[in-house]
Amino acid sequence: MTPEKVAQPALRQVAALVRGQRTSDGAGVRLTRLLGHETVESADPFLMLDHFDTEEASDYIGGFPDHPHRGFETVTYMLEGRMRHGDNAGHSGVIGTGDVQWMTAGRGIVHSEMPEQTEGLMRGFQLWVNLPKRDKMVPARYQEIPAATIPVEARGNGTTVKVIAGTTSQGTRGPIESGATAAHFFDIRLAQGASIEEALDPGLNALLVVYDGWVRIAGEKTVPAVNVALLGPGERVAIANAGDEAAGVLLIAGRPLNEPVAWGGPFVMNTRDEVLQAARDYQAGRF
Ligand code: FE
Repeated sequence: MTPEKVAQPALRQVAALVRGQRTSDGAGVRLTRLLGHETVESADPFLMLDHFDTEEASDYIGGFPDHPHRGFETVTYMLEGRMRHGDNAGHSGVIGTGDVQWMTAGRGIVHSEMPEQTEGLMRGFQLWVNLPKRDKMVPARYQEIPAATIPVEARGNGTTVKVIAGTTSQGTRGPIESGATAAHFFDIRLAQGASIEEALDPGLNALLVVYDGWVRIAGEKTVPAVNVALLGPGERVAIANAGDEAAGVLLIAGRPLNEPVAWGGPFVMNTRDEVLQAARDYQAGRF
């Protein structure tokens, strides 16, 4: 045996930190935009990420009345609270604490997302996942996953991984099927002093969303909530709780599409003509 040194698989370092921007959307819902137009290339295939976190009913009570989507997927993950959705195909339901709704808008849907509460904490995320050109016009569909059916892996020393989409290094598979982007969506909670290292397909773009506490990423960068760290290339992700309270981090990863992005409001296509066609189809009631 030659005592060759086995190279350690590379840790993904923080390539860029994205600070959230306070904004409002829908009917005056106050939220923090964590990903958007500025990160379309660096976060490919993820288009947008919003975080809502408020106990003030006036910040969320207006909700998101009827609006269209075409060309991508919306993922709603509730940390706390209840949101009711309904659409023009007659589908409706409530997403409660810990639940996930993964909606493939495809060729088009008109829906509303309204709070199912008039007081108390409303906290969660909405992520937009792009679709490749060949899937942009698929029929709309939903994957609705109640919290109780989402697997949670215990890693010991106070770390848990809730596996919403994708498969962990230990083989736990999330209930969401995400198609071409192979999207991974893990909610990782770290007790004080806890840490995790997770192997991840090097072909995926990856980002971390720190939503509670402070974490140290790749043994270097310390990031407080609420911020996004876009990760560079590598084979492993290393996260350690660097604070004196529990930490919460979303690990989101997906295969980049490397296609042109034409983004016009609620329509995300490959060309400007396709966006204009989407607007015409919507106005003509063809969704
Ligand atoms: Fe929507």
